[in-house]
Amino acid sequence: MAKGKRMSVDEQLKRWVDGESVHNSTRDECTPDFSCCKPQLLAPKEIRMKFLNANQAERSAMLAGFLGVLLRGHSCEVVS
Ligand SMILES: [Zn+2]
Repeated sequence: MAKGKRMSVDEQLKRWVDGESVHNSTRDECTPDFSCCKPQLLAPKEIRMKFLNANQAERSAMLAGFLGVLLRGHSCEVVS
């Protein structure tokens, strides 16, 4: 399965931190804040950086925050 461009999660994350939200069509996964599909949900850069450097537990907590934002339909209330 080496056809076309496959994107790793790491690459998706890096591009997201750089401000380019891309839906990972290889794995059918959104960026952590879902901004690839809902641009208005794009998290502030500092939050994105924080996510990149977070450990697994912190990432899970942040993902839950992003998900809450998605469900409420508001932006910029993520994480304390
Ligand atoms: Zn998406």
